[in-house]
Amino acid sequence: MSIQAPRGFNDILPGEQYGWRDSYRWQRLEEIFREVARLYGYQELRPPMVEYVDLFVHGVGATTDIVTKEMFNITPRGDDPDARRMAMRPEFTAGLVRAYLENGMPNNPQPTKIFAYGPAFRYENVQKGRFRGFHQLDVEVFGAQDPAVDAEVIKLGLDVVARLGLTGLVVSVNSIGCPNCRPRYREALQNHFRPHLGELCEDCNTRFERNPLRLIDCKRDAGHPAQQSAPVTLDYLCDDCRTHWEGLLSHLEAMGIPYQIDTRIVRGLDYYTKTVFEVLHPKLGAQSALWGGGRYDGLIEVVGGKPTPGVGFGMGMERVLMVLEEEGLTAPFADRPRLDVFVVTLGEAARPVGLKLLYELRDAGISADIDYLGRSLKAQMKYAGKQNSRYVVILGEDEVQRGEASVKNMDEGTQESVPLDQIISHVRRAEV
Ligand SMILES: [Zn+2]
Ligand SMILES: [Zn+2]
Repeated sequence: MSIQAPRGFNDILPGEQYGWRDSYRWQRLEEIFREVARLYGYQELRPPMVEYVDLFVHGVGATTDIVTKEMFNITPRGDDPDARRMAMRPEFTAGLVRAYLENGMPNNPQPTKIFAYGPAFRYENVQKGRFRGFHQLDVEVFGAQDPAVDAEVIKLGLDVVARLGLTGLVVSVNSIGCPNCRPRYREALQNHFRPHLGELCEDCNTRFERNPLRLIDCKRDAGHPAQQSAPVTLDYLCDDCRTHWEGLLSHLEAMGIPYQIDTRIVRGLDYYTKTVFEVLHPKLGAQSALWGGGRYDGLIEVVGGKPTPGVGFGMGMERVLMVLEEEGLTAPFADRPRLDVFVVTLGEAARPVGLKLLYELRDAGISADIDYLGRSLKAQMKYAGKQNSRYVVILGEDEVQRGEASVKNMDEGTQESVPLDQIISHVRRAEV
């Protein structure tokens, strides 16, 4: 019997040879994300991986592909009194908003600045860089309107990837207005597209009434003249949205963040308001944002809270790690931890002494391992080399009787006799 991983799910594995799937790269990315989030004053919230489907219907949007086509639904046991439909999370924001409300966090001093990361699930058509099980780094700020927060969220993401060596990214920004100014814009869009509906795809025809903003970023109709000449949100902003938009741009300029205005980023969900952004890698082209985010001042109310502003982003970890690999940016992963000491024993009498030393080393914070397969001296040395250990401590029967061991420095090829009770300090000294 040979069972493979489900299609669209990846193993993250120990070893450089696995490229972007190397678990050490994942650990580094997570460490960097946690460190940058800490510097910005964000704290971690870990929501469950499963929520009721209703949350995503309201919190992501009943008309989105994510909810209509891509949900990983779970049907609980029928005799469970709580057998409502559940789903694996397709993104983080909805669950974080639910957790924020359910746990009384709006009563804390605001804003609430949180980060989260981990797996998410969408039943996608599997293709390069698009998986059914994927991972996101996510930040959200609840309870602040200030465009300086939108700029902070953008800068935080850029700082994360800059620490990985990924620079020269371009931020595309737009403002999609608010419930005050959007109806006028929707109407202008409908008037613009109405004469062309026959030429546009089926989805666009469905979206025309419910969600006309999506006609602007429809990939199937990309290049249609009506799409190119469509009215832009920025011409329809109310005073409040315009002030916010100008504030955002001046913050980006003050921070020296290169940006471009892209009026085709619309998101197209009712609860998205004002700022929307995407971060592009120049080599990947306009269709392939590395990550995106924006403001959603209507969402918290939709999920059942008082009207509360929010802004955040979700960054695909696979995407970032794949780009780093393609760009050959391996420097941040170069200092992968090595085994400090491999303990080699020869003969029955040396074995218990070796095991005792093994645990003393580990207790002292020195990484150490030993052979468990009864290998010969030569095979143990070879194995120690494959483990890339910095030292090999060799315990023969004669040496054990003298209370000594041979300590070999694998990088320098030198070897010396060291009393057993001085091995820890010997290894430590050389480390400094
Ligand atoms: Zn507005
Ligand atoms: Zn279309």
